[in-house]
Amino acid sequence: MLHQQRLTSPEENAMDEQYLICRSAGHVFLEFTDFEIVERRGKLVSYKQESVCLRCTTERVQHIDGGTFAIISNTYKYPKGYLSAPGERITRRDARRALWK
Ligand SMILES: [Zn+2]
Repeated sequence: MLHQQRLTSPEENAMDEQYLICRSAGHVFLEFTDFEIVERRGKLVSYKQESVCLRCTTERVQHIDGGTFAIISNTYKYPKGYLSAPGERITRRDARRALWK
């Protein structure tokens, strides 16, 4: 279940709503930057790509296979207040319910 604290400033509440929209609809990643590009004998082996969510500022780093362009791994760095408490899981359904009010 989603437990929202309402003893926060209007700015924090506005950001809470942005977080809920991202939880409900997914992130809007922009500003792609490639780094740690690995090449061997002139062929691309792998690289990492960083992007930032336009709405909530979550940062994502994708490690990408340079041969197949498949995603090897995704790493996320969430803004303060985005993550739920330990043991608490906020589903897309929870986020839609909270946004409905
Ligand atoms: Zn987001």
